[in-house]
Amino acid sequence: MAWNPTFKKKLFEPEVNGDGTPFKLSRSKIDLFIECPRCFYLDRRLGVSRPQGFPFNLNSAVDHLLKKEFDAHRVAKSAHPLMTTYGVDAIPFAHRDMDVWRENFVGVQSLHEKTNLLIFGAVDDVWINPKGELIVVDYKATSKDSEVNLDAEWQDGYKRQMEVYQWLLRQNKFPVAETGYFVYANGKRDRAAFDAKLEFDIKLIPYTGNTDWIEKTLGLIKQCLMDDRIPSATETCEYCSYRNKAGKAIIETAGKLKEKVEQEPVKIAKAKTKKSKKDE
Ligand code: SF4
Repeated sequence: MAWNPTFKKKLFEPEVNGDGTPFKLSRSKIDLFIECPRCFYLDRRLGVSRPQGFPFNLNSAVDHLLKKEFDAHRVAKSAHPLMTTYGVDAIPFAHRDMDVWRENFVGVQSLHEKTNLLIFGAVDDVWINPKGELIVVDYKATSKDSEVNLDAEWQDGYKRQMEVYQWLLRQNKFPVAETGYFVYANGKRDRAAFDAKLEFDIKLIPYTGNTDWIEKTLGLIKQCLMDDRIPSATETCEYCSYRNKAGKAIIETAGKLKEKVEQEPVKIAKAKTKKSKKDE
């Protein structure tokens, strides 16, 4: 289906969602707000979304297969070999809502009463340790020559993602371990040939989450949604400066064209039609 930049459903309406009907907000929209409140406002209040990227079908294939693998151990109540290799004392958590927690657009949900925002996010996996604490797990896939890690600035979004899941599970009264794990699959590029096969190195990367920022951010999000003024653009944003320059160029060109048309009205020659003998 083609990308539709405007949609008129489920937008925030101050008089409806202010303190009446809770407004559903995904963890990815929280991240959008952190990235740019203006883009967030355009999306959630005005119904103009960013263009969607291409679907990462290879990544979702890795996710799908990893889920299958961990699910087998969930049923058997056994540790996955990766847990043993990395010394993580845990097994995949079996819970009746596990499939719901993993379902896109549903996920783990919690109503944040102070803001009337219904926060939700779909987890990849949840494990449990012998203390009964839940461990949030996220699957990632990439392909690069160097070792995978979480050091790049753009990966802060991954960390926030895990922290929102930890927060959501805590809001649902589960004890949650501070350390979660990224199961990071790195497609090997040093093979002699493709041979219709992609091999991966799998690494388990621990991450200690800190959810302190979430409460404050939800307050700011609510404030932004209630306001009729559009937040200003992020100065450093390349897309906005592109958009502004493109808009300016279009307006200028249209202005020049209008002037030209007014000065020399375009004469549209009448098409000559040959009269056939029959018509006479
Ligand atoms: S500053 Fe960038 S991210 Fe923000 S609204 Fe403009 S294009 Fe979107």
